[in-house]
Parts: sequence; structure tokens; C-alpha cells
Amino acid sequence: MLLLFRPWLPAESKLMAQKKAKVHPLIRLAEENDPSSTSMMDEAGVCPKCFGTGMENVEGKGVRRCSCRLKHSQSGLISAARIPRRYEQCHFNTYSPANPSQERAFKYASRLAMDFPAVDRGLLLSGTVGVGKTHLAVSIIKGLTERGFSCLFCEFGSLLKEIQNSYNPVSKTSELKVLAPVFNSDVLVLDEIGASKPTDWVRDTMAHIINTRYNDRKLTIFTTNYLDKVNDPREETLEDRIGIRLRSRLYEMSKTVVMNGEDFRRGFDGRPGKETS
Ligand code: ADP
Repeated sequence: MLLLFRPWLPAESKLMAQKKAKVHPLIRLAEENDPSSTSMMDEAGVCPKCFGTGMENVEGKGVRRCSCRLKHSQSGLISAARIPRRYEQCHFNTYSPANPSQERAFKYASRLAMDFPAVDRGLLLSGTVGVGKTHLAVSIIKGLTERGFSCLFCEFGSLLKEIQNSYNPVSKTSELKVLAPVFNSDVLVLDEIGASKPTDWVRDTMAHIINTRYNDRKLTIFTTNYLDKVNDPREETLEDRIGIRLRSRLYEMSKTVVMNGEDFRRGFDGRPGKETS
């Protein structure tokens, strides 16, 4: 912030310094990799940094993979992550925390996206509807794909349907093409756990996915509208929904971050939002 008071900086550098001082590192990375960035290609569509070779020379340091190739692989990683269209615009730079609980969640989420793979636990973002849990989970995916990691977004209810639809009663297995990315992606987002009716099959399937990733030391991010403590005894807790064993497994593999606040969609002035469960 001190940079703001340096009168000897020309106006343009002052502005750049302000921008640099304020902007989150992941946001800067996003801007550098923005496909709409005009600096990437020359008029003939050739990258001026690597002249189409894919390798760029960094003075005094040698060669490295050119950022234009990073952009290509990032767009592949983004489409493989299967982010729902509704959340395509979500990123850390479009999230405005409305209270300390959301600020805290923002910090944990952005730190994870920067520090991965040097993190040993994922996150469980829990809180009422519309506080931005999915927004932050998608932002983590964006940050990680920008850094070259593979991610997958699964709304848990839809994943269960996909698994059910691909189930073969003869082999008693579901198709690997549905499950392989769920097991193999570096980071998996399981959105809205606890929302599906907790039948034995649902709990077994959830346990199978979560335990497989846990055993393979793969990171998982969870979001849920169910809390651990409720004021009204008629309301269900997360443990009621997913069972005591699975809740305890989630304690081991993720840090619980409770978010509260108003439903952000209320500010949309009657425009349709995501269905609540
Ligand atoms: P939740 O998963 O907690 O139910 P969502 O992440 O689906 O909430 O948020 C609902 C909508 O509101 C999304 O379009 C999301 O981008 C937006 N939103 C929620 N919180 C914020 C916030 N703090 N800043 C910007 N957008 C937000």
C-alpha cells in the first residue's frame, strides 16, 4: 500500500503497482491465461514468445513451456472438470465476501488452490443456501486448472444418477468411464453432499467414492447445506444425512469451514436461481 504514496512513480507505473499490490496471485494468473488476452498471438496467429515451438526462452534461466501451450492445456483441463454452465463465471475474483465467515472461507479456499499439492486435507464448506459454497469450490477448480492440475466437479445427486444409469446388473458394476475421473482426478469437488435421500445404496456408494479417494491420498472438496449443529431438533444434521462413519471420515480428510449469511440469490431480484434441496 505504501506504493500509493511514492510521488516519483510515473502515473502508469503507480497504477500497475496498485493493481499488483491488491490483486490476489491466482487472479493475476487467471488474467495472464485469459484466452481473450490479445498479447498471446500476433496477427498471423503465431505466439510471439515461442514462435509456435511451444518452448519459450527465459533470459538467464533457460527454456520453459510457453504460456500459450499452458493456455491450451488449461482449456482442456477446464472442460474435463465439467463445471456447470451456471457456475462458469465463478472465480476468486468474482467472489465478494459479505461477512467474516465468508472471508475465512475465501482465505482457506484460495490458499488451498495456491498451496496444492502441499496440502494434506481438503475442505468441507458447509452453510445455508446461497452463501457461495459452490462458487468457492468452483473457484478452487479454476485456480488449480490454471496451475495444470486435473479436477472434476460433481453435483452429488447427478453423479449418483449417472452411476445408477450405467449400472450393469449382470456384471454388478458401473461403467468405468463414469467412475474413473471421479477416482483419478487430482482434486474432486462433491457438491451438495447429504442432499440425496440417504438410502443404503446412496450411503454405500458415497462411502466407496470417498474411501477410495482417501486411500489413494487424493484431495476432495465437499459442499453441504447440512450443518453439524442445529437449533431446531426437527432439522437434520450432516451426520443424520450421511451417517456417523462417513461424517467421521470427512473430519479426517477435510477441514470444516462453516459459512453463514443471506442467500446471495435474493439480490437477483426474482431472477431464477439454483433449486434448493
Ligand atoms: P451455495 O452453494 O452456498 O448454495 P452458490 O455458490 O450456489 O451458493 O451461490 C449462489 C449464487 O450466488 C451463485 O451464482 C454465486 O456465484 C453467487 N454468490 C454467492 N455468494 C457470492 C459472493 N459472496 N460473491 C459473489 N457471488 C456470490
